[in-house]
Amino acid sequence: MAPVTQTEECDYLVIGIGSGGIASARRAAKHGAKVISIESKRYGGTCVNVGCVPKKITWNAASISETFKDARAYGFGGYDTPTFDWPLFKKKRDAYVKRLNGIYENNLNKDEIKHFKGRAKFVAKDEVDVALNEGGTQRIKAKHILIATGGRPNVPKIPGAELCIDSDGFFDLEAQPKSIATSGAGYIGVEMSGMLHALGTDTHFFIRGQKLLRTFDPMIQDTVTKEYERQGVHLYKGAQITKVEDIGNGLKRVTYQETESKKEGTIEVEQVLFATGRSPEIEDLHVKDLGLKLNDKNHIMVDEYQNTNIGNIYAIGDVSDSGFELTPVAIAAGRRLSDRLFGGKSDAHLSYENIPSVVFAHPEIGSIGLTEPAAREKYGDKVKIYKTEFTGMYYAMMDQEDKGPTAYKIICVGEEEKVVGLHILGQGSSEILQGFGVAIKMGATKKDFDNCVAIHPVSAEELVTMT
Ligand SMILES: Cc1cc2nc3c(=O)[nH]c(=O)nc-3n(C[C@H](O)[C@H](O)[C@H](O)COP(=O)(O)OP(=O)(O)OC[C@H]3O[C@@H](n4cnc5c(N)ncnc54)[C@H](O)[C@@H]3O)c2cc1C
Repeated sequence: MAPVTQTEECDYLVIGIGSGGIASARRAAKHGAKVISIESKRYGGTCVNVGCVPKKITWNAASISETFKDARAYGFGGYDTPTFDWPLFKKKRDAYVKRLNGIYENNLNKDEIKHFKGRAKFVAKDEVDVALNEGGTQRIKAKHILIATGGRPNVPKIPGAELCIDSDGFFDLEAQPKSIATSGAGYIGVEMSGMLHALGTDTHFFIRGQKLLRTFDPMIQDTVTKEYERQGVHLYKGAQITKVEDIGNGLKRVTYQETESKKEGTIEVEQVLFATGRSPEIEDLHVKDLGLKLNDKNHIMVDEYQNTNIGNIYAIGDVSDSGFELTPVAIAAGRRLSDRLFGGKSDAHLSYENIPSVVFAHPEIGSIGLTEPAAREKYGDKVKIYKTEFTGMYYAMMDQEDKGPTAYKIICVGEEEKVVGLHILGQGSSEILQGFGVAIKMGATKKDFDNCVAIHPVSAEELVTMT
């Protein structure tokens, strides 16, 4: 290892300039703390480079592709064989992301946050060595250290795993695959399979269980699973990919096994994508040597104030065991932590209750609060469910078999019918949920929903008129 240069000292050292790290670093600097940051890859972390941002742009492209199909039903012609220039699209998407990388770096400079590009590792509880990308090592001593190193995708250790891509690799694809095998019933698998299918890739989607999005409300699981099948995604339920082989001509042979019958089958596709969970990124940090407490999945354990078991070390975002792997959660937790440490707000912390989240499936899904089974477990027979399924007016001009679903469920508790859960699937759900999220966070009851005059004709009016 190259010799250690002169030690830098600061009030706050932030490891990882992703969603949470930059938010916390900048807030601390605004409070007057001397802040140093370390990032080993591109600024912006998962969200900007291989997550929310390029994903949403791709989802937009997929939605436009669907609109071309729908246009026919409205009487438009000339859209029967639209073409999609994936390489051009990727080039423009990459350029957009690169611009954001630059904005992140500028913001660090603007706030006078010294930044080192390299890989951080703890050498003591208040000292970190950075293996600099340009060579050499920088030692940094800090009063407070934030670990905001996020996570990385897992690929199962099967024969041929090296031939497969993960969600990071999805964004590296230079050409649109004509066919793909995807695996993983969680939101990333559902989003990527949906986008690829909508863009015209022949998509073979393998899931271990019988339904997609198994941690979501059962209504969402049932509706999205049925809808993906209706749209023509080849869903292999109760099946796992067990082997992948390169058979030449740009093709891979995928062997899969049905979980119950143990029957095997094969398909041939151009790409194989695993979206089978993520692991916290602690690999190079040497936190185990420090005695930092981790849970059974290696997430850093924190209390509600983001404190770890070591006095001056904190963790936020995907690397922590907060349970919500979402950009706004990492940002909010990071800002509040800096307000607490440097802004004199001794009780500042993020409340992890009623956090809205969406899935950019086809169609979109939004969810906040408890699922029906969780509410019943917590509140027993005090739970009252309001539920509706209908066809949105957007589909009025389409043939029956081309109509997509809309499904809403409101979960209420007690005599006052406080809303403790809202689950929505259908066009516009991601935008609809944000406003309802405010109401639910404020403690809205079903009566409050009903007191709001409906907006007509939109799908969301059903949420304030449900009986
Ligand atoms: C495909 C995909 C789609 C997603 N879509 C959404 C979405 O629509 N909405 C949403 O809210 N969330 C979404 N997420 C989740 C979201 O991206 C993460 O929750 C969020 O980025 C977590 O932020 P973070 O600050 O914890 O870590 P990250 O943003 O991952 O940042 C961690 C940073 O730490 C750096 N790092 C790691 N180890 C070291 C080290 N030892 N030394 C120096 N630097 C290090 C990494 O290079 C990285 O830049 C998506 C994620 C994926 C994968």
